[in-house]
Amino acid sequence: MTIRPELMKNIRTTEPYVPGEQPQNKVIKLNTNENPYPPAPGVEEMLKKIDTDRLRLYPDPAAGSLVRALAEHYGVGEDQVFVGVGSDDVLSMCFLTFFNSDRPVLFPDITYSFYKVWADLYRIPYETVPLDENFRIVREDYYRENGGIIFPNPNAPTAVYEELDFVEDILSHNRDSIVIVDEAYVDFAGRSAMELVEKYDNLIVVQTFSKARSMAGMRIGYAVSNPELIRCLNDVKYSVNSYTMNMPSILCGAEALKDTEYFETTVRKIVETREWAKEELKRLGFVFPDAKANFIFARHPEVDADELFEALKEHDIYVRHWKGGRIGQYLRITVGTRREMKALFDFLGEYMKK
Ligand code: PMP
Repeated sequence: MTIRPELMKNIRTTEPYVPGEQPQNKVIKLNTNENPYPPAPGVEEMLKKIDTDRLRLYPDPAAGSLVRALAEHYGVGEDQVFVGVGSDDVLSMCFLTFFNSDRPVLFPDITYSFYKVWADLYRIPYETVPLDENFRIVREDYYRENGGIIFPNPNAPTAVYEELDFVEDILSHNRDSIVIVDEAYVDFAGRSAMELVEKYDNLIVVQTFSKARSMAGMRIGYAVSNPELIRCLNDVKYSVNSYTMNMPSILCGAEALKDTEYFETTVRKIVETREWAKEELKRLGFVFPDAKANFIFARHPEVDADELFEALKEHDIYVRHWKGGRIGQYLRITVGTRREMKALFDFLGEYMKK
């Protein structure tokens, strides 16, 4: 049935974000930047302990125990932490709360493709700012009037990380705009902008449990900023949905934070595998910007990315690929276990011989 134009005219139509595939069969899954290791052991224990009778009740709308655990972890006030259903939820609330200017919000042309989707959905004017030829953000391009700024650090899908003085430079040139630093992958990279929150009242740092903490399935994200901005975020959140975080996620998130040693070991293993994977990719003739996330954004000068993507998929190795444009010849390869990466390189080695 086609909807009549009279009906259609008041319906919101929008172009949605396209998530990476989640194949249900067993494959080598290097396409959505998940962590190949399980969450901290305490999470499993917590799940076993959860009293299912409590599922009758609504969860704590403030996700208090998780907010408290995060505040303690980062040495900030509880009124400086906002939690949401993955950082996608947190970022979406940030767009709604902080980007309300007639001037354009600025973000890189090659970046997390959800930014454009939220801007369109919420009818926020925006301009994309081209990365340079090495996929670096050009900081001077952000020294201009704008309605807000957002960028991931490390950037996605490029995996390029900028040092803290770079982030601070953008903050200090934009004192009258909200600057959101999306740090989904920062644990694999370097210093977080979290330490600048006290100094810059215009900064919001967003992080997630989906990557370094191996909990993408739990959907936990958070923002850290000053109490005033966090209050604004909460006011908007409570105007959309009070009970965003489910009870098991609140409890398991707080539990995961306790195990610093497990977290550090897991991150170290992924970084080691990444550094080895870079060498292997180089050996195979791939080129890529230096990767500081849990993925590598690589192309081969002599191999078509489309064809390679399909060939890998045929062999149950899933990576991510965006067709066309400046990144059409690149594949984004998540860092898996050493065994998974070896399977990838064995396949690539054979493929290159053809
Ligand atoms: N930001 C960036 C840059 C990402 O790549 C992702 C993962 N797709 C997210 C945010 C959202 O992750 P999550 O909602 O799982 O926290």
